[in-house]
Amino acid sequence: MHAVRELIWDGTAVTAAIHRSGPLGVRLAARLAEAAADPLTDPAIGRLKRCEADDCVMLFLPAHPRRRWCSAGRCGNRMRGPPLLAP
Ligand SMILES: [Zn+2]
Repeated sequence: MHAVRELIWDGTAVTAAIHRSGPLGVRLAARLAEAAADPLTDPAIGRLKRCEADDCVMLFLPAHPRRRWCSAGRCGNRMRGPPLLAP
């Protein structure tokens, strides 16, 4: 498969587009592989956290370092348990 990055001047800015040759399936596989590689090479990868809920496998990029769950409304509420009822 052959891939060429083409620079295009649209009148206000230069944009880059990748043009690939080859069968559709091969081009699609290459695009998916790139999409999977992008987050792994992002400097933010070091801040990824695993959700602390026992039965959750989600990874998330916390907005603040003390965040413990991928979703406060789903895993957070579940792990904190049901709200205590007033006597
Ligand atoms: Zn979770």
